[in-house]
Amino acid sequence: MNIDLDTGRLIVFLTGFGFFLALESLLPARHLEGAKYRRLLTHSFMAGVNTLLVRTLTFVPMLAWLVYVEQQGWGLARWLGLSGWLEFIISIIVLDAFDYFWHRANHRITFLWRFHKAHHADTSIDVSTALRFHPGELLLSTFAKATWVVIWGPSAIAWFLFEILVSWFAQAHHANWDLPDGLERVVRRIWVTPRFHATHHLVDRRFGDANFSTLLSIWDPCFGTEANALTQAQIKECDLGLPDARDQTASFRHWLAEPFSNQNLGLSKSRQAD
Ligand SMILES: [Zn+2]
Repeated sequence: MNIDLDTGRLIVFLTGFGFFLALESLLPARHLEGAKYRRLLTHSFMAGVNTLLVRTLTFVPMLAWLVYVEQQGWGLARWLGLSGWLEFIISIIVLDAFDYFWHRANHRITFLWRFHKAHHADTSIDVSTALRFHPGELLLSTFAKATWVVIWGPSAIAWFLFEILVSWFAQAHHANWDLPDGLERVVRRIWVTPRFHATHHLVDRRFGDANFSTLLSIWDPCFGTEANALTQAQIKECDLGLPDARDQTASFRHWLAEPFSNQNLGLSKSRQAD
């Protein structure tokens, strides 16, 4: 069962990537900085390094942890007696809420921001930005996820469904496409849209330190971190990424060394200061 779900995750990832790559190439919402093929090559190489690390270091221990927690009967979901479709749906909503707080912590806590800023250093965003995460962030997030597993106790199927949805949504909301205005206004009330997430990638911290949701967009208005909605024309007028070292965005070496660089470090404090 786990092997099938794992293969399913890979198939969703590859078809999603192909689909959004085609969509943003045919109907791009914004002009990209730098050649698209270079962005794809750099970000795919980063993804290769990450996949190798995650597969060798965290994938098997995480599966073993899921099974162990299930055997022990730990977690609120089991305590509440949830099962079947109800358990899948509620677990996905709860895990999405945990992800919201984890993403917010990545922007607020300087140590976590050191790793997360490697993702935000991209001066454009497209589907390949969804591949641009620092391996340190992925390793740290494994500990966070292991904690969610023991607190909530999702079934292995709910866990994989959530992971599949996260990978699909990350591609969808980083990709360089847009919904028509009317549809965008409705969809963004429930789901994270490309415009909702592009706003989170603006250099301007009033927008960059907001819109932390991953799947459901409801968490930001719930917890007071939703930015004012911008039109695509307004987003196009603004810079994406981080203020310092904008010329280093395509460099693999700088991406890897990002946690040790003090550039853009003060941004994690900017919102608390106002
Ligand atoms: Zn972020």
